[in-house]
Amino acid sequence: PSSAVTVLGLGLMGTALAEALLAAGHRVTVWNRTPGKAAPLVARGATRAATVREAIEASPLTISCVLDYEAQHALLSPAAGALHGRTLVSLTNGTPAQARAAETWAHALGASYLDGGIMAVPEQIATEEAFLFHSGAAGPFETHRSTLAALGTPKYLGQDVGLASLYDLALLSAMDMMFAGFFHAVAVATSDKDTTASSFTPLVVAWLQSMIGTLPAMAADIDSDGPAAYAQTLDLVVAAADNMGAAAREAGVDASHFDRTVAALKARMAAGETTYTAPGAVRQLRVAAQDQ
Ligand code: NDP
Repeated sequence: PSSAVTVLGLGLMGTALAEALLAAGHRVTVWNRTPGKAAPLVARGATRAATVREAIEASPLTISCVLDYEAQHALLSPAAGALHGRTLVSLTNGTPAQARAAETWAHALGASYLDGGIMAVPEQIATEEAFLFHSGAAGPFETHRSTLAALGTPKYLGQDVGLASLYDLALLSAMDMMFAGFFHAVAVATSDKDTTASSFTPLVVAWLQSMIGTLPAMAADIDSDGPAAYAQTLDLVVAAADNMGAAAREAGVDASHFDRTVAALKARMAAGETTYTAPGAVRQLRVAAQDQ
């Protein structure tokens, strides 16, 4: 069924969200700090609001997708009263603490609040590949689920409003470190004059795809109290990390990641640990955070 939806923020992502809502047949009102960005959407049937207040008042549901929470709060504050009795869904990327603060702020205004994390690039919005995490009160989510589904598959994580950004940022962290690993591998391999990024990358893809298959078994180890099924000696892992660092240095590539890894693993060995396991690696991250 068609409903009225407001989109605040028409950057690359906000524009893709508004286009998807229009394509799904909703009555879409848009607002952007730089008003010119609304023109292509207006040509497709959207209504451009002159002010944030007017935009919020046009719909029971407002989706906000701007640079960050600071920008979001700054643009919403002057129009906050208009949120009373309405639902705000923040798809602006932020932290769990920011989501909790925004929920408290919205509830004090008599508004419903849902947080969200978009697991897609703008080109993927409204395709099968796109999914969005949502968290916050279940009632408003159920009310707006079918509208939100126009953007991508909604995955509701629960009433704790911080969960969508927690999962979103955890997945983004995995992606960020995967890309960092890829860039490092390419920098090392292309120190060979006959190797190009394009000739080497199919090997990286095949290797990472095969390694990804080990993650569920490691997860089972992390969740279990028993002995880990996946275990190597710390000696072996230190020797490998030492070699990765040395190979990077020989190739003229920054090796500081491996220096830190070797130092942390040696500290564990000095404390009497002998095996490298997935639960041990996760524990190490928590121990290191306590020292910071
Ligand atoms: P863009 O840089 O394309 O657009 C940024 C938007 O924020 C613009 O609408 C801009 O307005 C607005 N903005 C910035 N500062 C302010 C401010 N102080 N007051 C009012 N509006 C402001 O970014 P995206 O659209 O790509 O990203 C928007 C959100 O979506 C971000 O939180 C991002 O992390 C998230 N996201 C983006 C993804 C992507 O692949 N692009 C993927 C998943 C999430 P103006 O046009 O006037 O500059």
